[in-house]
Parts: sequence; structure tokens; C-alpha cells
Amino acid sequence: MLKPGATIGILGGGQLGRMLAIAAARLGFHCHIYCPEAGSPAFEVAQAHTIAAYEDEAALAAFVGKVDIVTLEFENVPVGALRFLSRHVPVAPSADALEIAQDRLAEKIFAMKLGLGTAPFADVPDAVALEAGLARIGTPAILKTRRFGYDGKGQVRIMAPADAAPALADLRGAPAILEGFMRFSAEVSVVAARKADGSFAPFDVTENEHRDHILDRSIAPARVSPETSAKAIAAARAIGDGLGYVGTFAVEFFVVGEDVIVNEIAPRVHNSGHWTLDGAVTCQFEQHIRAIAGWPLGDPRRIARVEMLNLVGENTARWEALAAEPVTKIHLYGKAEMRPGRKMGHATRLTFPA
Ligand code: AMP
Repeated sequence: MLKPGATIGILGGGQLGRMLAIAAARLGFHCHIYCPEAGSPAFEVAQAHTIAAYEDEAALAAFVGKVDIVTLEFENVPVGALRFLSRHVPVAPSADALEIAQDRLAEKIFAMKLGLGTAPFADVPDAVALEAGLARIGTPAILKTRRFGYDGKGQVRIMAPADAAPALADLRGAPAILEGFMRFSAEVSVVAARKADGSFAPFDVTENEHRDHILDRSIAPARVSPETSAKAIAAARAIGDGLGYVGTFAVEFFVVGEDVIVNEIAPRVHNSGHWTLDGAVTCQFEQHIRAIAGWPLGDPRRIARVEMLNLVGENTARWEALAAEPVTKIHLYGKAEMRPGRKMGHATRLTFPA
């Protein structure tokens, strides 16, 4: 068990790293952030930081000398960097778990092997495979890069076979996956923490609404049946167990009828779990620190009905009006520059009783 006073290394310095570092500090840990970008949001709430590329082995070697454990807030860290670090210090989640969760194809195959529902999919290394995939799956469909996609980046809709060539050109030769277009009634996620001993603490299922492919609003509890909720939580548990996952993770689902279809696994704390900072006994960030440190998991119970509003780009100006609402909690990430589509903060509206 990691004791207070130890130093937790975090790969990635965005808002998720910032909120993890705050949670870690509350438990008496120090954090050392490692990320390539100067002026990252996590730096101002951590004891130390390193600005270096994830591929820089000399910088990684110096970093492991200063930390007791390494975790991450960003799933596109090269798996090689995690493997390198894990030869020197404990790393959670593991490189093997990350390797599956950062590749949409590996993730779908993994979910399918667990017997979970996914959209129909095809591996698309080239134009011939795309044609074969479209012949099998039909249109509409979505072509996505296997890696490095987030917030709708690296995705193209294919409405008719004639869209295939331009769609492939759009992805510039990146290995891709073709997915059948799902007609879902809602998008939900399960954010949960899991420890090495298999203990598992899911938060209530969250309903997510996107705008311009970016999460706009989350509601907890999700407006789905108890059966659908139970299926989502069982699927997330199977995924956590299958990955031998340690830490907080999220699984995004499409709701189709009473069933849930796995869309994506996020091997980290997740935007759809931000409501837990104010709306649960233990938040997703503290759960992550507890899980990787080998502490008992906290109670994930929801203490209010919650609506989480993301403050993205121009929308960030809403913070001032939201700050005037007495039961709304404001979180701003300290980012110097506002850009369209950039997540600048979020707000959580609480309604009682839970
Ligand atoms: P993703 O990056 O995979 O989470 O996709 C971003 C958003 O695109 C999702 O939240 C959905 O709203 C939509 N989307 C992605 N994949 C599909 C699919 N196979 N069918 C329908 N909508 C999808």
C-alpha cells in the first residue's frame, strides 16, 4: 500500500491530470507531472513537472527516479514508454490494458470475445478492405482511425459507397476501422474503479449528450431502465476484469432497445465522470488514486441528482451566470488560451434529494 508522502507520477498534464493531482494532494501524496506541453493545466497544482516527449528515454529514466508509481491521464501515451517505465516502478493501468484500450480495433475484438455487443466492424488497412467491409456492413457507416481519435477527430461518415474513397483519403493512410452506424436511443457511460484484487466500484450510469462531437452535458442517473443500467455495469465489470485493470476507467455505450452496445473504453478518468466531484461520496479522481495506491475503494454512492455542463470554447463565458446558481459547482481548468472546441472547465448542477 502506497503511504502518504509518496510521489505519484502522472503521464499527461491536462485537466484530468490537474483533478487527479488535487485528489492525490488531499490524500497526502505528491504528484510529478510528465508531459510534452509547456504551461499544462496540471503543473500549477503539482509539486513537480517534467516537460519532455513520451519517447525521450533519458527524460523517462530521470522521471522514474523521482516517483514511486506511475499512472496516466492521457490514453495516447506510447505503450513503449509505459513498458519502459514499468521495468523500474509499478505502473497502473498496465501497458497491456493501455494497448487494447488505445486501439479501436483491439478494443472491439476484446469486447466481442467477452460476449459483449459492439457495432458491426471491419479492419480497414486499405481501400480493398474498405470495399469488402462496406459490402458486408452496408451504409450508413463510420470510418475511424484505429488510434489517436478523440472528440470525433479522425472519423468520417460514409453515407453511400461513393463516399468510400474520399473518406479513406481524409484519414491520410492511418490504419482504420469501419463501423456500422448504430441507431441508438441514448449514449451512456459507466465510470468505475477497480483494484488489483478485483474489487470494483461503479458510479451510477451516466447519460451523455454531445455537441459537435464533444461531450456537452451529462446527467446522472441516466434515464434508462434498471435492466439497461445493470447490463451496462455488468459489461463494464467484465471489461475491467478482462483487462486486469487497476484504477478508474470508463466504458461508453450506445443504448439500443434495452441493450447496451460497447462503443469505447477509456483507460483513465473520464469527462462523463466529472459530476462525481460534487455528486458522489467519493469522486472518480480519488477512486483512481485509492485504486493505484492499493487503498480500499471509497463509496461511489451518488448524493444528488446531477447535471454536468462542459464549458467548451465560447461556451466558457457561461461560468459567470452558473456561478450565481447556489447549488452549482464551478470547475475551471486554468487554461490560458480559449480556443473553439477546447475544454476550459465544467459546472455541476445538483438537485436534492438524490
Ligand atoms: P467516438 O469517438 O467513437 O466516441 O465517437 C464520437 C461520437 O460519434 C459518439 O459519441 C457517437 O455520438 C457517434 N458515433 C460513433 N460511433 C458511432 C456508431 N458506430 N454509430 C452511431 N454513432 C456513432
